[in-house]
Amino acid sequence: MFQEVPNEVTLAINLSNCPNGCKGCHSPYLQKNIGEELNEQTIDLLLEKYGDAITCVCFMGGDADPRMVEQLALHVRKTIKYKLKTAWYSGKSEFSKLCSINSFDYLKLGPYVESLGGLDVSTTNQRFYRNENGQLIDETYRFQKKPKRHLQ
Ligand code: SF4
Repeated sequence: MFQEVPNEVTLAINLSNCPNGCKGCHSPYLQKNIGEELNEQTIDLLLEKYGDAITCVCFMGGDADPRMVEQLALHVRKTIKYKLKTAWYSGKSEFSKLCSINSFDYLKLGPYVESLGGLDVSTTNQRFYRNENGQLIDETYRFQKKPKRHLQ
């Protein structure tokens, strides 16, 4: 089963208005500015509904406004009732200089490159990191299935 964040029960929130324009984009609708505005109040409503059932909130996209993603992640952290972790799936190769990596427990970096594939294939350019006390540990391998062994 595909999980946005391994070993976490994740509420994934798609952020539209993606500026990255990857060829072969898996979710072209996210390149448009669509949907409802996401702010601290809408996060609170989502947490009231799902907070007890999840362990992590993952922001998918948001590269048009990295500061906003960080602000919302910090808001999730501040809602101590749930003790939730935060994750950000960014389509940028480098982490935004406008934010601190320590606002996130998990980070995925890298645009989608059709010829290299997504996180679930070993050729991917994308990386998935766990933040351990400010050190990014590459855990991309967790998304990749081990090759099947054939018994002779
Ligand atoms: S980062 Fe994701 S949503 Fe944005 S263009 Fe690339 S594949 Fe599409």
